[in-house]
Amino acid sequence: MKNNKEVRVRFAPSPTGELHIGGLRTALTNFLFARNKGGKMILRIEDTDRNRLVEGATDRIIEAMNWAGIEIDEGVCSDGGESTCQKGEFGPYVQSERKGIYQKYVDKLVEEKKAYPCFCSSERLEEMREEQMKNKQAPGYDGHCRELSQEEVDSKIKNGEPHVVRFKVSDSGTTLHNDLVFGKIEVENRVLDDFVIMKSDGFPTYHLACVVDDHLMKISHVFRGAEWIASTPKHILLYEAFGWTDEMPSFCHMPSILNKNKKKLSKREGSVSVADFKNEGYPPEALVNFIALLGWNPKTEQEIFSMEELIDQFSIEKIHRAGGVFDLDRLAWISAQHIKKMSTEDLYVQSLPFLEKKEFFKNAAENRKTKDFVKKLLEIEKERMEKFTQVGEKNQFFFSDDIEVNADDMRWKDSKDTDTKENLQKGFDVLEKIGEDDWKLENIESTLLEAAGDKRGDLLFPVRAALTGQKRSPSPFQVAWVLGREESLKRIKKAIDSL
Ligand code: GLU
Repeated sequence: MKNNKEVRVRFAPSPTGELHIGGLRTALTNFLFARNKGGKMILRIEDTDRNRLVEGATDRIIEAMNWAGIEIDEGVCSDGGESTCQKGEFGPYVQSERKGIYQKYVDKLVEEKKAYPCFCSSERLEEMREEQMKNKQAPGYDGHCRELSQEEVDSKIKNGEPHVVRFKVSDSGTTLHNDLVFGKIEVENRVLDDFVIMKSDGFPTYHLACVVDDHLMKISHVFRGAEWIASTPKHILLYEAFGWTDEMPSFCHMPSILNKNKKKLSKREGSVSVADFKNEGYPPEALVNFIALLGWNPKTEQEIFSMEELIDQFSIEKIHRAGGVFDLDRLAWISAQHIKKMSTEDLYVQSLPFLEKKEFFKNAAENRKTKDFVKKLLEIEKERMEKFTQVGEKNQFFFSDDIEVNADDMRWKDSKDTDTKENLQKGFDVLEKIGEDDWKLENIESTLLEAAGDKRGDLLFPVRAALTGQKRSPSPFQVAWVLGREESLKRIKKAIDSL
């Protein structure tokens, strides 16, 4: 690739289901590189394998990318409604809409005798495969139809015999490329068979469509998962056959994602979709931060990154060859750091949809559903939250009106019930003196601490239990602040009366 070439990268998923972790990593890497270099990010939909199509998959891929904040400059996009649209001057960006283009290039290769129609039936191919297995030979097409004469080909085509088109791979020589992550990769051509470039249904195969499109769309760098390394020599042979090697993109394969045992993520482990993480309540910035670090190492101590920082610091040299470890505990930690940094307003907006689905919230009194109330709750939960689904989960007493506490729950060490009652009364009396307008966290805290003197537990423990009905909870100051003056006094009074 010439150095002055404009950076143009593409994410090219097949619409076969949800966007998974591996796909998100590929999309994100392309995006970070494009933004870092001031280049263009393209979304191309590779839907030529008609048997694997899943209805609605393209929409869901776009939705997941939008959620993650991965913007595109060209290609398939959402129009904000139900359907998709396309933008950019190299379209169409959906491969099934480019059939005519591929046909033209396949015809050219056939004309130049660099490719040939193959009429072998699936039975013949099956027999050939079995024979090869028996003889412990590498599986691959035996070149049977290479030898057909022009007359034979013409007559078979005239008779409408179904056929594919195969690319003629030389039996000698090697194909070499310099992968930007994995370095020099050299393959002997004799191990590559005459691979199919056009299927009998008239659709091109991935190899042909990918090369033609990357060329026509002026792609400068191909970032994709390491599982595509084996396909790259075939692509290079196609670039050579078309005479496009001067403009060939640079290849950059991303290492596999590993599980905690440092094994390649199994299909099941890897089939966690981006939508699942969204539904589980992870902030998009946290998932993006986590996924980005699966692919490259910032080479500094920094672990928490905004998208802007990721863009700024991305470079191909930082991509590590060893796979990144997919560790959900690390995601939870990263997520907690992002939540801590969020403004309470933002946290409110993002977590409210999760809270609204919770029964305890639905059943709560109206004054506990107000923005003001929920924001106060978030203010105190923010420090310990790993995902939005956790809002209120451990502190449901905030939303419930019937807090049940008994004397045992409120007993501080071996004190008597009369001590508990006396301390609750003391707490009640001092809190009652704080007016509605002064009901602030600092005031509540200093008032209760002053009243408790050096016997903190004796006063604070029963007050906290009376307010929450729970053995564990945030501090009584925080709880009283969130609950508000009236409700706090009501709860303490009820506890006093129960003794
Ligand atoms: N359509 C391929 C996929 O589903 C794209 C591979 C590539 O990026 O070349 O991943």
